[in-house]
Amino acid sequence: MALSLEAQSVVKVYPVDGNVVKAVDGVSFGLQRGELVALVGPSGSGKTTLLAILAGLLSPTSGSIVIDGQDLARMKEAERARFRRRKIGFTFQTNNLVSYLTALENVELMLRLNREFNAAGRKRAKELLARLGLEKRWHALPRQLSGGEQQRVAIARALINQPALVLADEPTANLDSERAFQVVQTLASLVHEQNRVGIMVTHDLRLVEYTDKVIQLLDGRLARIISPQDDLTCLANPAECTMIPTDVLGFEEGLQNDN
Ligand code: ADP
Repeated sequence: MALSLEAQSVVKVYPVDGNVVKAVDGVSFGLQRGELVALVGPSGSGKTTLLAILAGLLSPTSGSIVIDGQDLARMKEAERARFRRRKIGFTFQTNNLVSYLTALENVELMLRLNREFNAAGRKRAKELLARLGLEKRWHALPRQLSGGEQQRVAIARALINQPALVLADEPTANLDSERAFQVVQTLASLVHEQNRVGIMVTHDLRLVEYTDKVIQLLDGRLARIISPQDDLTCLANPAECTMIPTDVLGFEEGLQNDN
């Protein structure tokens, strides 16, 4: 199957006090549609920078990001903005819902920005919110919703334009574990059912069981990619696992330095 997302030798360098910081240092990987990936690593390892580059919000110093055969870096700014609106969905840690719009209007706003708001779009927005367990909350304003509900509206908003790529920066950061599991489980089912590529930054190893792959960054470099489901299950439940691969244990230690 053709890759839907290819990151090739991505480098991002920041000048700092006469020196340079390599925030992302030669990262390459390829993902297919239908994959949800956890992006993990200690604080300062480059996750946010890489996510912003994948989103086309930040230009890499070198390297390329190819989404569905199109190279983000080769696009002019206006073209990239249009591509982003159509092909890439985001959710951020703070969900950035528009406070005076209802849950349904927040989702529909993404259709309006693409001039694609019509009866079919509204139906899709309602179906998506229902799929996320929010069918009774269409008309609620963000402040009337719980943290978990707001996060689910943000996920609906990221998916409404049927993007090729969905990027989520710690979508469960402000949720209790039960809500976090529900949000990630739903995100995983939607990515699988709708054949999207999903990338989620997370600090919570228990959530990786719902993902198909874990990409670990260390000091801006790709440290490893873990994909067999057995290893992901081990990672999520180390106490219950009798056969934890040693490199997975090393991976855990790497994470303990975080924050
Ligand atoms: P993470 O999201 O994993 O915590 P970041 O991508 O935020 O990592 O940061 C990676 C490295 O790049 C860190 O050393 C950070 O200090 C540095 N960095 C990030 N953004 C900037 C910037 N705008 N200017 C200078 N250094 C930056």
